[in-house]
Amino acid sequence: MPPRLTGRVVIATHNPGKLREMRELLAPFGVEAVSAGELGLPEPDETGTTYAENAAIKAHAAARASGLPALADDSGVAVAALDGAPGLFSARWAGPGKDFAAAMARIERELARRGSTDRRAHFVSALVLAWPDGGEDLFEGRVFGTLVHPPRGTLGFGYDPMFQPDGYQATFGEMTSSEKHGIDWASSDPQPLSHRARAFLAFARHRLPVLNVNM
Ligand code: IMP
Repeated sequence: MPPRLTGRVVIATHNPGKLREMRELLAPFGVEAVSAGELGLPEPDETGTTYAENAAIKAHAAARASGLPALADDSGVAVAALDGAPGLFSARWAGPGKDFAAAMARIERELARRGSTDRRAHFVSALVLAWPDGGEDLFEGRVFGTLVHPPRGTLGFGYDPMFQPDGYQATFGEMTSSEKHGIDWASSDPQPLSHRARAFLAFARHRLPVLNVNM
């Protein structure tokens, strides 16, 4: 059996939206989550060329500095008609002021500039668990949907108000976080919805204490 997490894990993010979601997802498992910010860990430069590389950079930096296992998410939204932009640069499109209204307006402008009516997009999450001995595990999740304009909803974070997942009328910005996660841990088919929840379910099945027979 691969090792499963018990005790403390560092959530290697300084993004409050991601931190909240990862804490919520970890809550049923009795694992104590402490954030990189709470430990005073610096934010490493994201110099990777893939989501997985950037997640690994963040997770290993936190595991090395804390001596604890560390979990990092690197994520973004890829717009089909923009050749996958902003993608890896999703956070950077919001600028130093983290202005996501401006980032969503930029997507809309770029689509208009290209005269595109294709509004398909998907979110990607790469979740890396780094162990203090240097080992790591990678889990990935995606969710496909359509971009709406104007953005709708004040729940969630980042690009959530612009993203309507396939099969739903609401945007992520209009969903509670448990609707956005979509996971019913008691079910034999937990049905995660968001990219992060999909990656998290794979991680939980491999590395978290077994919750019930359905895992
Ligand atoms: P990074 O992983 O720190 O590079 O940042 C990823 C960026 O992608 C975030 O700052 C958000 O802008 C965006 N993003 C990632 N996941 C989500 C999500 O679940 N909802 C909305 N925006 C997201």
